[in-house]
Amino acid sequence: MTRTSVAEARGAAPLYGQPLLTIDLGAIAANWRDLAARGAPGAVAGVVKADAYGLGVAAVAPALRAAGCRHFFVACLTEGLALRGILGPGPMIAVLEGFPPGADGDAALVPVLNSLDEVAAQAAAARAAGVARRAILHIDTGMARLGLDAGELARLSADHGMLAGLDLLYVMTHLACADEPEHPLNAEQAARFATACAGLPACRRSLANSSGMFLGAGFASDLARPGCALYGVNPTPGTANLMRQAVRLAAPVLQVREIPAGATVGYGASWTASRPSRIATVAAGYADGYLRSLSGRASADFRGRPIPLVARVSMDLTTFDVTDHPDIVPGESLVLIGGEGCTPDEVAARAGTIGYEILTSLGARYARSYVGG
Ligand SMILES: *Cc1c(COP(=O)(O)O)cnc(C)c1O
Repeated sequence: MTRTSVAEARGAAPLYGQPLLTIDLGAIAANWRDLAARGAPGAVAGVVKADAYGLGVAAVAPALRAAGCRHFFVACLTEGLALRGILGPGPMIAVLEGFPPGADGDAALVPVLNSLDEVAAQAAAARAAGVARRAILHIDTGMARLGLDAGELARLSADHGMLAGLDLLYVMTHLACADEPEHPLNAEQAARFATACAGLPACRRSLANSSGMFLGAGFASDLARPGCALYGVNPTPGTANLMRQAVRLAAPVLQVREIPAGATVGYGASWTASRPSRIATVAAGYADGYLRSLSGRASADFRGRPIPLVARVSMDLTTFDVTDHPDIVPGESLVLIGGEGCTPDEVAARAGTIGYEILTSLGARYARSYVGG
């Protein structure tokens, strides 16, 4: 994980020809406050795994904490240790993948226990140290990824003594289809989770991710775990996005050239001008997370106008047809992600992926500017 300090990050002004990634910490904080109101009276965490979905955990996590967030989730131990360094003591930092075998992690981090073996290891360590260990117990109710399966759950339900030494903060599960409100698995998972909790010692519960928070009262819990919605990805696909956009990627036009009808552009000569055309080349490509699968399928935003991407996205450069836009000249910038018609969700749809992957693919060689913090 990169550990750019907020001060460094804030200071980044684009050099000539460098794309500018602007991250709106005010929008992220406001999204968290909206979700916190929606999750009340339960608490609402901030999921900041994968460098806060690519936006920079060193800036995002303190902004969430300033907004009132007291519970954070990361994917792995190294992310947890880095986040503790960023936030200092106080907020809960839970590690979704738990601690690797043999690693005790750090008393200041909370492992998510994903199997009975992990339960046993943490409980034994707690008893050996004579100090209760905080943990979150993960029950698999339909993901078949991590968490106690039905057999393990039955064994634990029959023998609560296995938990001796553990201070269970939450029992959690994770929804597989929360972004599809009509999917029958949602209600099934909620029911399985309720049954699982009923067989365990009384404990607070953690259920919904971003989309799960929009599924209704049956998905409320003591701790919601939104990630993507904080960053502006639509948690309710199919209906209007209630979240604020938090990301804007603007790439400068390096050159504009005129080509005759019949000329081709880019690798593979995959696009042929049907008329005399003006082609703008901008300084971002697939190495910057502007996915190659967008080739010929996306548009950028220039002052509210859609500008069609033509030909293949290459590693460092992408070409746009600006024939109808004489005011697009070198030095101007096109908004590739986070503008009109090119939100992360819209770009994702063009690329055949999801907004999450657009954000986590954002490259490392942008100037990054954090605003609204
Ligand atoms: C990533 C993750 C979340 C957050 O999911 P979003 O869909 O981004 O809100 C919540 N819980 C678990 C277990 C996760 O892995």
